[in-house]
Order: sequence, then C-alpha cells, then structure tokens
Amino acid sequence: MHSITAVSSAIDTENPALVAAWQRGLTEAGPAATQVLAQLADTGAAEMAVHFYQVMLDDKRASRLLSHDQVRTRLQPAMQRWVRDLLLATPERVESLIAAQRVVGDVHARVGIPVDLVTRGMRVLKQRLFQLISEQAGHSEHAHAAVACLTASFDIALECMTLAYSNARERSSRTDAAYRLFSLVQNVGTERERQRALLLDWENTLLYALASQNETPEFQSLAGSEFGLWLTHKGIPSFGESSETQQICALMAAVDQTLHDTLDTKRDLKVRSAHLQEVRARVGQIRNLLGMLFERIGELDAGCDALTNLLNRRFLPTVLRREIELANKNKAGFAVLLLDLDHFKSINDQHGHEAGDRALQHIASMLSQFTRGSDYVFRYGGEEFVVVLVAVDERQALVIADGLCRRISDSPVLLADGQPLAITTSIGVALYDGHPDYERVMARADAAMYQAKKQGRNRIVLADDSLPEAPDRASLQNR
Ligand code: GH3
Ligand code: MG
Ligand code: MG
Repeated sequence: MHSITAVSSAIDTENPALVAAWQRGLTEAGPAATQVLAQLADTGAAEMAVHFYQVMLDDKRASRLLSHDQVRTRLQPAMQRWVRDLLLATPERVESLIAAQRVVGDVHARVGIPVDLVTRGMRVLKQRLFQLISEQAGHSEHAHAAVACLTASFDIALECMTLAYSNARERSSRTDAAYRLFSLVQNVGTERERQRALLLDWENTLLYALASQNETPEFQSLAGSEFGLWLTHKGIPSFGESSETQQICALMAAVDQTLHDTLDTKRDLKVRSAHLQEVRARVGQIRNLLGMLFERIGELDAGCDALTNLLNRRFLPTVLRREIELANKNKAGFAVLLLDLDHFKSINDQHGHEAGDRALQHIASMLSQFTRGSDYVFRYGGEEFVVVLVAVDERQALVIADGLCRRISDSPVLLADGQPLAITTSIGVALYDGHPDYERVMARADAAMYQAKKQGRNRIVLADDSLPEAPDRASLQNR
C-alpha cells in the first residue's frame, strides 16, 4: 500500500528531552514507590476506567463523543490498559510509551476532542489515583514519592499527546485551507484563459471608446470591471497575498487614476494617446504578473489526480470530517464506497500499462457520471477509488453501489485498437454509524471490500462489525 508516513518533526526533536525527563521521574521514585504504583495497576485500573466515564459523561460535549457503543466497548478496555501502562512504566519502556501517547493524540485530533476535555480527563484520573495512593500508603515517604512519580508520568504523557494533537490539527487545517483554495479555482487552466480574455475585452472596449472621439467616452474602471472584481474577490484570496498581487493592485489603481485624469479633463488627442500608451503598458504588466501567478498555482498539486481528474485522496479526511459533522447535525447519513478493480495486474500484464491507464480513466468517468454532483469521487490509490455518497440511507447506498458495480462490468473499455476489454470491480459499502473517527468508516469499507474479493469479486458487500479487518490496512493519516 501507500507509505507516505506523516512524521511530525516537532515531536522528534522534543523526544529526547521528554524521554530523559520521564526516565528521571521514574528512577527518582525508588523501589518502594514503584511497588505502590504496581499494586495500584492491579487493583485500581479497572475502577479508573469506570470512574472516568461517570465523571466525563456529565459533560454534554464529552457524552456526545463517548456514548457511541463502539467507543464505549473499545475505549473502556483501552483506557484501562493505558492507566496500567502508566502505573507500570519503567525507564526502558519510556520510548514506547511516548509513541503510544502520540497515537492517542492523533486519534483525539481526528475526532476533534476539545483539548480542555482531555486535560479534564487527565485531572479526573490523576485525582482519583492520588486518593487511592493515600488510602493504600497513607502519608508515608514512599506515598509522596509515588505521587511525584505519577504526576511526572501523567504530565509528560499529556505533553506528548498535546504535541501530537496540535501537529495533527495543524496538518489538517493546512489541507482544509488547500481544499478551500482548490474549490475556489477548481479549474486553473480554464480560469486563466477566462481572465485573460476578460482583461483583453476591457482593453478593447477602452480603445474603442477612446477612438470614438467622443469628448467624455463612457467606460468602466479596471477595478470595477469583471476582471477587476474577480481579482479582488477570488483571485487574490486564491493566489494568496504576494509581491505580485500587490504589484497588480498598484498597477490597476494607476491605470484607473490615469484614465480618470485623461477623461475628466478635456485633453487634446496627443495627450490622450500618450496616456493610452501608458495604460496599455501597465495592462501588459498586469497580464504578465497574472500569468506568473496562474503558473505557480498550477504547479501546486491542484487537488486533482492527473490521470483520472478525480479528487486527490489527501482531501478525503477534510470531506469525511465535514460529512460526519453534517450527519450529526442533520440526523442524516452518508456512505463510503471503496472500489478496487479486479485482477488489474493481469490487465496491465496482458494489454500493457497504457491500456491499464485507459481503463482507469474509463472507470473514473463512469463513477463521476453515475453519481450525483453532491457526491465525491476520489482516486484512493493505484486502481482503488472511494465514493462518498452524501445524504443516503443503507438502501439507497446499496442500490447505487450495485448500479455502479453492474454498469462497470457491463461497459467494457475500448482499447486503442478498438478492442473491448471487460473490467469488474469489488466494492465495500460502509454506512456512517455514528462513530466520530472517520478512520472507522474507512476501515469498515475496507473490510467489506476485502470480503467482496474473498467471495469471488465483481460484487458489493455491506460492512458489518463482524467482518474481520482487512489485512495491510494503512490509516488515511499515514498514507
Ligand atoms: P485484485 O482483484 O485482488 O484486486 O487483483 P489486482 O491484480 O487488482 O491486485 P492489486 O490490487 O494488488 O494490484 C493492483 C495493480 O494495479 C498493481 C499495479 O500494477 C496496477 N496499477 C496501480 N496503479 C496503476 C496505474 O496508475 N496505472 C496502471 N496502468 N496500473 C496501475
Ligand atoms: Mg488494489
Ligand atoms: Mg485490484
């Protein structure tokens, strides 16, 4: 599978200091305190998880995130293990503990758990553990040492989680921003041509107006023209402020000023024509700068896959997060279809890579054609696609998935020599089930797709929680 591992450099540079601090805390505790904590791990961890839920479910925001059945059944044992691991921490285990806290921080970021809820959860657990320590060891010296050690463990664990959390949030807000930018100027090539033409139109209209020898010709300022409005409202926010956009604005203002001066006073033709030369030179500069800006934006991975013109999978988390939010708000559902073409390797082997590429384009265009404009179609990997069907229930999702599966198998791709080549696909269908982490719905779709392969391909399978997880599944974040 794909292996773009998102390594957060901030964590890696902070790591040695955190490792050392945690190890120091553990070593300084001494054997008696370690003993107290180990005993707590045996007697207190289960109670901790229960206590955590009792306190946290009082909060509306927390209960919205925690009340999902799966969260409950998975989180309670996981939390118990997490508490045990902290209580049984040893200097040798610190590095792997830190890695585990990073994973927790990533999950919190995906689900969008507010930071104050995480710190509150930590406080609740810590206070309860301190209580248990004093019940068990009174106010002895080793009780104090145990409290100090536990404080260090909890605080450093929280620090690691927070670091991972803020890194992940930062990454995803960068992608969100890129997505907004992308949707604004979705087709860079078309937009470039359109704006060039509009600028030219404006210039021609001006020339015509001035040539008409009318004493006060009517014309529109450049800033107020269709081009000017686009630039101010869409162009600059999309390109981002830069020295080029500033130059364009200054040139535009200068053009409008010159025209205003020229046309307001009844200048003779010679002056007019000198001014006109000036204006045309500036418009030419604007055109060049604009070309540079478009070129730069075109070089960015514009968000579309080059071969199929479908959405790039890096926007999938952005879309899923928003769909989860909408589904919760509107009490509606959505579905994820994960498609993997059948025996694609042998298509490449028998007909060549170009035929394979052609087949991918054919499938991509069918997926776009037979879904609604409000649905999303992504190229997920080599010959894997993801369709997000918005506002559907289970029955509708199955009808659409089944339709796509049949259409694909009924519509062979025409190869370059005119020969038809049949292609089939296996589709995993997963309905949003209320789990706040988008990785879950993806994992369920993946498991269902894997099942469809196992059952003989060219079919759809609906995800249900009893299906085994697909092997080699890589999380979206780590793809
Ligand atoms: P299965 O039915 O189990 O999915 O069989 P498969 O042959 O499709 O197996 P697998 O999914 O492992 O193989 C995918 C193949 O798709 C591997 C690779 O050669 C091919 N492939 C991936 N990306 C591209 C691409 O961009 N163009 C072409 N032509 N082939 C690709
Ligand atoms: Mg595959
Ligand atoms: Mg395949």
